[in-house]
Amino acid sequence: MDIQPPEVLKSPLVVPAKTLMGPGPSNCPPRVLQSLSLPVLGHLHPECTKIMDDIKEGIRYVFQTKNELTLAVSASGHAGMEAVLCNLIEPEDKVLIAVNGIWGERANIMASRYGAKVVRLETAPGTNFELCQFEDAISKHRPVLLFVTQGESSTGVYQPLEGLGLICEKYDCLLVVDTVASLGGVPFYADRWGVDAVYTGSQKVIGAPPGITPISFSAKAQKRIFNRKTPVKVYYWDMTILGDYWACFGNPRVYHHTVSSTLLYGLREGLAMVAQEGIENVINRHKQCALRLHDGLKAIGVELFVSKESARLPTVTTIKVPENIDWTLITAYAMKHYFLEISGGLGPTVNKVFRIGIMGYNATNDNVDFVLRVFEEGLDLAKNKSS
Ligand code: PMP
Repeated sequence: MDIQPPEVLKSPLVVPAKTLMGPGPSNCPPRVLQSLSLPVLGHLHPECTKIMDDIKEGIRYVFQTKNELTLAVSASGHAGMEAVLCNLIEPEDKVLIAVNGIWGERANIMASRYGAKVVRLETAPGTNFELCQFEDAISKHRPVLLFVTQGESSTGVYQPLEGLGLICEKYDCLLVVDTVASLGGVPFYADRWGVDAVYTGSQKVIGAPPGITPISFSAKAQKRIFNRKTPVKVYYWDMTILGDYWACFGNPRVYHHTVSSTLLYGLREGLAMVAQEGIENVINRHKQCALRLHDGLKAIGVELFVSKESARLPTVTTIKVPENIDWTLITAYAMKHYFLEISGGLGPTVNKVFRIGIMGYNATNDNVDFVLRVFEEGLDLAKNKSS
């Protein structure tokens, strides 16, 4: 052999048990973890396709939609963004992207790569958009689609969506929503709100591992995909064929790729747990925990980054880094002493904020109290170091 078996692979696998209270992934509940050790199945075995059918029902429930074209793509949340944009954009299409953090920026980059003419609608990180800003921009630019992030996890901002679907419909513009960090933490109604394409993360509120992404397209979006002048640029995300693997169009299933049955088990169990609790109860639990966290942070004497209360995302709380404090001391303290993840900022908030995630299985009063206690200890330590 030219290359010898690596020494490192002779040691056992080491995975510590951490409490993940950054912006995701969150800890998987035991029921999900157990499902991940079940035997692998073939991707067209009837037991596997039955699980895919269960998952479609679960996704329709969490998105509150009857959409035929509802499935999970085999990759993390970014794949949802790629899949939506590459299916709905044709070269030279004008698209409007709402940018108030890193996710709008990413969508901008992706849409440009698919040949779109991107118009940016911007508001400062830490703030959200008013409905009239969307209407002004849509009526002026007449885009084929509008991309909005419901939960901007880089800034901790919540974007209300009610009424936006009607505006989009008026101007024949598709409404695309990223709910990766928000679904299950705030209400979302794909059909009622007139959303044409939506995706979410498996690894946040749903509590499954990352690597499989629920996605759904309205009948109008589906029609647009089937009537494209040019084929979808990425075969792997092409809904006209992937939809047949997931039996969305009533045709016999056709092999498209080898889906990870293991990830299907995890997603199925995560969705089942949300369904069992009832999504409205899951949302309330997140709201209560977020309020408890916000109150606790105020008592500690730190300031939230999002000043408007109604713009705060319950799942991801952003806290301003106090002046003259080295924020890395706090996140490192939490990890070193408690195996607890607290994150720093991302994109426009790098070095400016801490991010604490309360998602899924981790959304409990005990976890909120735990993260508050450790945060305060770390802050005291950092203050002492800076004085
Ligand atoms: N959109 C939002 C709002 C997110 O929070 C994330 C992940 N933090 C993504 C997209 C990308 O997801 P992933 O990291 O799973 O690819």
